[in-house]
This record gives sequence, structure tokens and C-alpha cells, in this order.
Amino acid sequence: VRAVPIDDLKQLNVVNSTAVTSGELLEAFSQELGLTNCHGVPDMPEDLNDLEKIYYDKVGPIFSPYLCTLPSHYDTTSLRGLMKDIPEPNLVARLPELLRYAAKRNFVSFDSEKRKRQKAKGATESQTHLRVVKPVVDRPKTIVIVGTGYVSFFAFKKLYSKLRRQILSGEIRVQVVGMSNFHAFHGFVGEMIGGQISAQSTRSPVRNIFEGAEVIRGKVEHIDPNAQNILVRAGERELQLEYDHLVYGLGSVTRNDKVPGLARHGWTLRGEGTVQGFQNQLLEMLEAASLESNPEKRRKLLNIVIVGAGFTGVEMAAALAEYLEYLKDYYPVLETDPAQVFLCNRGEGILKEIRSKYSRLVRYASKHLEKYDVRVLSGV
Ligand SMILES: Cc1cc2nc3c(=O)[nH]c(=O)nc-3n(C[C@H](O)[C@H](O)[C@H](O)COP(=O)(O)OP(=O)(O)OC[C@H]3O[C@@H](n4cnc5c(N)ncnc54)[C@H](O)[C@@H]3O)c2cc1C
Repeated sequence: VRAVPIDDLKQLNVVNSTAVTSGELLEAFSQELGLTNCHGVPDMPEDLNDLEKIYYDKVGPIFSPYLCTLPSHYDTTSLRGLMKDIPEPNLVARLPELLRYAAKRNFVSFDSEKRKRQKAKGATESQTHLRVVKPVVDRPKTIVIVGTGYVSFFAFKKLYSKLRRQILSGEIRVQVVGMSNFHAFHGFVGEMIGGQISAQSTRSPVRNIFEGAEVIRGKVEHIDPNAQNILVRAGERELQLEYDHLVYGLGSVTRNDKVPGLARHGWTLRGEGTVQGFQNQLLEMLEAASLESNPEKRRKLLNIVIVGAGFTGVEMAAALAEYLEYLKDYYPVLETDPAQVFLCNRGEGILKEIRSKYSRLVRYASKHLEKYDVRVLSGV
């Protein structure tokens, strides 16, 4: 530190000339945490059980870049030459102290503390000068994938098939950031509406399908393409992740502001719990209609409007009409006063996207909708 003018200091690495093995590190930490039955061993045991084998095969490579650094990165000869009169601390002996210090600070990094202080002072975002520090020490090439939807999943699959060895050895690090810990398959929403499959069956755990990547559940709040980093809010924590390559897979949002009242009274089909919410409301309406003696009020309870006659709207109309047929066995009111599904579209007809190229398919879909008495309202 003495040799470097402090203003130019970009990063301070605490360097020890003797190696600290990960065994020593883990042993010191586990003792500090009161785990008295944990002991670090210098060599890989030969009698690993199945769980340990899986750990070393799958989890180990993800953590190894954090725990192990090549000795060549830390040749301290010149440094020690400069600091002859400063005794070198016994790092292993001081590890518990270091852990206590970090725990006292809630493991908060300098950057996030600095931002918190600036926020408290009322500094606006533009005043906040976040200095991006490029690491002096080599870090593995890092690919950050934001979002856990289709784009992200297929991008990861492709990367994994090409770079499996480098990813598993930690040479390339892949970090996946998403807001939920499952990936939802939208292709079965029709079947969910029709009650044929449950929401649970359309979900795949993110940590399973992105196996080999480091998964972080959090919301991406900012992407800085110049500094090549992203800011993630994960509960109370704020993380800054640096990347060499970024895969952008944050998807899109349904525009329900275009039709007045839609946001308040309608259901979208994207997002957690929306399909179940719609199903619950549908059943509530059928219960109410079963008890309603006023024919006009009953009619209102049995009208269902779908906005948009593209792929999703047409699929939902057919699924819903089929479901209502099935529900006739349970709600006699549907026999005497059938529910009416309306499919509304701003333009003419249905499935505009494929009308010119696949006219036969469009005719087939129209016939199917007619069979179920779905009323298509064009130009509304
Ligand atoms: C009801 C329905 C049925 C469909 N059926 C079909 C079909 O049969 N066939 C077909 O090909 N397509 C279908 N689609 C379309 C298909 O789902 C989309 O084209 C596809 O989801 C787009 O993929 P994506 O990765 O861009 O976005 P998404 O799959 O929406 O993924 C976006 C991801 O980003 C995450 N995210 C968003 N913002 C943030 C943030 N700030 N921080 C962290 N994470 C964030 C989300 O949680 C999500 O995981 C359907 C869509 C719907 C709604």
C-alpha cells in the first residue's frame, strides 16, 4: 500500500506467500461455526460415498474457482522485498477473525455499502459514481444469462453442449439470474385451463435444467453494457456481476393497457398463479349462476370474453369451450343456459399470422371453434 499512491489504488489483494489450502480454510470456518465433526483432509479420500462423488463431480467444479488459485498468480517475491520490515501474518491462525469480521458486516461488499450510504444521503442515481473495478487477478471467462425462460434455456443448452468440459472444470463460469426458481412451459396453458394438467406439471426446477451453471435467484435491476456488469437485487442483497458475455432473455410483458378495463377485470396467462386465478373465478361464476334466478344476471355470469384471436387466443377459446362441455356434468345450469365464449379481435377473422400461408389450418381451427359455438367478434 505504501508503494502505491492511494488515488490510483484500483484493488487491494491481501497476499500471503504461503499457500492456504481449502481444507485449512473449511476447517477453520467450520470450527468457528461450531461444526466440531468437520475435518479438512489434505488428499482426496479414496472411499467417497455416492453423495460425495456427485459433489466432487458436479458441485466441486462450480466452487473451485473461488477456493483455488494458481500459485503463479501470487508470486510474492517482489512484494515481500518491498515490505521487509512488515511481518507476515499467520493467515490460517487469523481466518476465524476474518470470518467474524465479515459476519459482523453481514458479508456486505464495499460497493453495496457505499451505494447504501449514498442512497441514505439522498444522492440521485446520476450523482452516484460507481467505479467499476476490473479485477487485477484473472477470473474465469464469465457468461451471464439473464432470465430463465425459453431463450435462456436454449442458449444454455447450446453453450453446455459446446463447452461442457470448460464449464465443469470451472475454466468458464456460467451464471444464470432469474426471478423464480422454476421454468414455466407455456405450451400447456390450454391444457391447464381445461383442467387436464396441473400447473405443477408445467414447471421445471431452474437448478435442474441449468445444471452446471451457478444459479442466482434475483431481479436484474440494471445492465451496464460499457462496464460489462449487471446489478441484481436478491432479497435484501444487491449483487454486481461482471460478465464477458451476456445472454439477454428477460422476455416480454403482456400489454393490457391498450384496452380500457382489461388490466382491472381481465386475466393474463403469463405469470405465476394467473391461470389458477382465472380458473377459480370461472368456477365462482358457475356457482353463482347455478343459484341466480334472474335470467339477465345469469346470462352475464356465463359470458366469457377472450381478447385477441392470435395463436394463444384461439387455443384458449377451444380449450375453454371443451372444458365447459365437460363441466356440464357437474353444473346442470350449463345444460339449460350454456356458457358463451366470445373471441374478440381488432382485425378481421382469426390467426392473421398464418392466414395467407396456411389457409387450410385456419379453416380447420374456425370449424373447430364453430363446433363448440365459440363466437368470433371481428373489428372490436
Ligand atoms: C399462454 C401462452 C402460450 C404459449 N404457447 C406457446 C406455444 O405453444 N409454442 C410456442 O412456441 N410459444 C408459445 N408461447 C410463447 C412463448 O412462451 C414465448 O415466445 C417465450 O416464452 C419467449 O421466451 P423468452 O425466453 O423470451 O421469455 P420468457 O419465457 O417469458 O422468459 C423470461 C424470463 O425472464 C425472467 N425475468 C423477466 N424480467 C426479469 C428481471 N428483471 N430479472 C430477472 N428475471 C427476469 C422471467 O421471470 C422469465 O423467467 C406461449 C405464450 C403464452 C403466454
